[in-house]
Amino acid sequence: MTPAGQPVRAVISDFGGVLTVPLVEAFTAYHEASGIGPGELGRAMAAATERSGGEHPLFELEKGTISEREFQRRLEAELGDGVGLAGLRDTYFANLHANEPMVDYLRGIRARGLRVAMLTNNVREWEPLWRAKLPDLDDIFELVVDSAFVGMRKPDPAIYRLTLERLGEGLGPGECLFLDDLDVNCDAARELGMRAVRFVDNEQAIAEMEAVLG
Ligand SMILES: [Mg+2]
Repeated sequence: MTPAGQPVRAVISDFGGVLTVPLVEAFTAYHEASGIGPGELGRAMAAATERSGGEHPLFELEKGTISEREFQRRLEAELGDGVGLAGLRDTYFANLHANEPMVDYLRGIRARGLRVAMLTNNVREWEPLWRAKLPDLDDIFELVVDSAFVGMRKPDPAIYRLTLERLGEGLGPGECLFLDDLDVNCDAARELGMRAVRFVDNEQAIAEMEAVLG
């Protein structure tokens, strides 16, 4: 559980896997449609990482240091002749749906007078696609920090600090409640002094958030 502290003034939420159905559902649809299995894709990512002598291509994509096209090119080079990733974004987004109960819960949080921001590791070229999943996004979130537009990604503490800075009003980490489906991202938030709830399912996450919010 989270430690008691200052009253929470802002909730900072992840997007994928929290405000959407589990990402694995969208990836499974892609694997089925393309015939490229998760193992194969994983091996291609590992090989592309090694070849570039640098970072995981997905991390580079999420930081906006490579384009979606370059990301595809690097993976296709590892997958071998004739294997294309062209269908990835379309199949993925056709099967990525909003997690309505959680979106609704955050709408309610905003209505309770708390500030609500989004901190997402995402892909620059996908912005219109993921935003379309939440038509009233700008009514719920006063701020969106998207990794691909700021050149850093969770769990880098700098992107959490940037989010606080952009929220302004001298908001401290102790006044924020962070919500994410990845432990590593929640751990980074806690290191900075935020309270964090790791999303597992709607019921659990809402109960844990309510315990913090009181
Ligand atoms: Mg996520």
